[in-house]
Amino acid sequence: MRQKYSANAINLKSYDFGEADKIVMMYSKERGLIRCMAKGSKKPNGKLCGRMDMFVANNLLLTKGKSMDTVSQAETVNSFFRLRQDTDKLFFSMYCVETVKNFGEENDENSNKVYDLLYSVLSKISESKTEVEILLATIRFQLKIMQVFGYAPEFSECNICREKIENSYSKFSFEHGGLVCEHHPLSGEKTLRIHPKIKDFLKTLQKTDFNIETPYDKLADTKVTKPCFELLRDYIEHCSPKKFNSTKMLEVN
Ligand SMILES: [Zn+2]
Repeated sequence: MRQKYSANAINLKSYDFGEADKIVMMYSKERGLIRCMAKGSKKPNGKLCGRMDMFVANNLLLTKGKSMDTVSQAETVNSFFRLRQDTDKLFFSMYCVETVKNFGEENDENSNKVYDLLYSVLSKISESKTEVEILLATIRFQLKIMQVFGYAPEFSECNICREKIENSYSKFSFEHGGLVCEHHPLSGEKTLRIHPKIKDFLKTLQKTDFNIETPYDKLADTKVTKPCFELLRDYIEHCSPKKFNSTKMLEVN
């Protein structure tokens, strides 16, 4: 008999395979990225129907295969159904999923943390009532996931001279992976001028666990959250080993 194993996984992407089947890319808590065959998942009355849709988190029983493992059973833990009721929620969720797809690996040693962050951000976006709440959840995800993947941007000290950055303007440097003093000349490099309050905002969110409330949860507005989201989006794209597709839909006005 073929070996079976269980996994908690969130669906990131699927491809049609023949008339009735799908190949699904998932991120699992136990093994990082996995690809598996979901037989009969395109049949409207099949036992996997709906469970293999994008964003759905399942508790799975998988059967080892020669070239690909197969989904034997799936029990949905969360379908985050409110994500699908709003285009903003949908696009920001697609963006978070794509980040995990681009940086995630098979047998990631931090798969536990990556899964928990993705699960948390999808539930937060799903439950959001305003655009600011969606943006805040996404920013917190961007900051925390880059820490896990080893690309945490530095907001406390200058990435060139290591001076502490206090209450003065600074620049965000993509090449240096964080803030640098305003006076350093950086020729030919993309930089953004950062207000000290923006620095404090990003620093606080980076330090705080994803599910812990911060003072900014009630104070932040779109004037702060939009540029911060865009800054991190561009930084993450700069670090990414793969090209992003979802970001084109997220050109926030
Ligand atoms: Zn400096």
